[in-house]
Amino acid sequence: MPDPAWNRPGGLLFPGLCLACGEGAGEGEDRLCSECRPAFRLPSRGLCQHCLARNDTATEICLDCLSQAPAWTQASCLWPFHGAAREVVHRYKYQGDEKARRVVLEHLPLALAGVAIPRPAAVCAVPMHWLKRHWRGHCAASQLARDAARLLAVPQLHLLRRRRFGKPQHELDRDHRRKAVLGLYELAPRAQIPSGTILLVDDVLTTGATLDTCARLLLEGGAGEVRVLTLARG
Ligand SMILES: [Zn+2]
Ligand SMILES: [Zn+2]
Repeated sequence: MPDPAWNRPGGLLFPGLCLACGEGAGEGEDRLCSECRPAFRLPSRGLCQHCLARNDTATEICLDCLSQAPAWTQASCLWPFHGAAREVVHRYKYQGDEKARRVVLEHLPLALAGVAIPRPAAVCAVPMHWLKRHWRGHCAASQLARDAARLLAVPQLHLLRRRRFGKPQHELDRDHRRKAVLGLYELAPRAQIPSGTILLVDDVLTTGATLDTCARLLLEGGAGEVRVLTLARG
């Protein structure tokens, strides 16, 4: 990933640069340049209503969701996972980058509008293993959940726990992912699950296996409904 200009020596001398590429002129509140901005737009049609996957069927629901619907009822994400948006997600996720977070904060209200009406009882992040969190120093899903909870003025609850490390998921296909994810998560000890709606938050929605497993745990624990929010849809 190229090092954005404002990370290089002298970068702070150019505060008007695009927060995604660091090269073009940042415009608007989110400070994206005209080259980067299109990468942050979700397609207005052709997405599955349920899982946000590209959907070429005549119905609003994709074939995967028709054959096995995920446990959540609605999903929303900020961006597609490609181009400049993908790079911002990476910086937010792996570096805890403050400029990436500024772009997220500008776009978060719109993504929440798609999934937080009526307002959920609480927000809960898909947890990272404590050791991984220690190594990385931050957890993107937690950060996003915290910001979403603050905007919605509802509590962020730590209802789930990751039990162990699993194989990095991007190496697995859909079926293997589902199997690999089973048993990776559990309800946190003494978790008080609200009986209302929980907004479950993760960084990227790919196959949905992780979110589906976590949503099922919350429903089994007493949640009335689970909706999903992520930064991007892979
Ligand atoms: Zn740009
Ligand atoms: Zn779907």
